[in-house]
Amino acid sequence: MTENRQLSRYGTVLIVSGPSGVGKSTVCAAVREQFPKLHFSVSCTTRDPRPGEIDGEHYYFINKTVFEQKIAAGEFIEHADVFGNYYGTLHSEVLKYISQGEDVFLDIDIQGAMQIKEHTGSDELLKRCCEFIFIIPPDRNELESRLRGRNTEDEAVIQRRLAKSEHELSFWREYDYIIVNDTLEAAVERMKHIIYAAHCRTGRYREI
Ligand code: 5GP
Repeated sequence: MTENRQLSRYGTVLIVSGPSGVGKSTVCAAVREQFPKLHFSVSCTTRDPRPGEIDGEHYYFINKTVFEQKIAAGEFIEHADVFGNYYGTLHSEVLKYISQGEDVFLDIDIQGAMQIKEHTGSDELLKRCCEFIFIIPPDRNELESRLRGRNTEDEAVIQRRLAKSEHELSFWREYDYIIVNDTLEAAVERMKHIIYAAHCRTGRYREI
């Protein structure tokens, strides 16, 4: 840059969604191992913890009253009702990373991703930093077997999730990128290329 000017880079907000059971979390976790400055945004939820889930690490597990107070205080970038529970992303969770040039994954559902997309119209920083990524299964049967393989939900829940997945697949056009999760290795490679390209976007830089 000229004389005293230098460029500083904002982090990237990687908004990753896809139908339930597509393997988002596995792909994101594998990518994260290879990028030390890539974080997971910890969402708030009103659902109960599953075995092994830790408060503050997997989610902030809060009750409905506290969640509604946070909505009223404008603390969420987005929030949604997913399968009868609230889930939401805190502004603070995202800003703390991107302002330091570090990247953050938002593993959120499509309603939430669409809310963030709307905000990018009025929020300059979000507009500059977001990449919308949609993960799809190689075929539909794959989704069902992944959902059943989890063994954590009863049949009624699986059926609800499958029906929702069908609907969700139709949203792919709203995203910047599609990743087919055919093999974990290939999906991880695709995600890495998106991240490398995201780091080169002019919009992500500012003069200091
Ligand atoms: P699970 O209960 O299996 O952890 O998550 C259920 C769904 O909620 C997943 O599709 C996940 O992406 C979504 N989800 C998790 N955190 C958030 C969030 O902060 N906001 C929104 N909108 N969805 C979320």
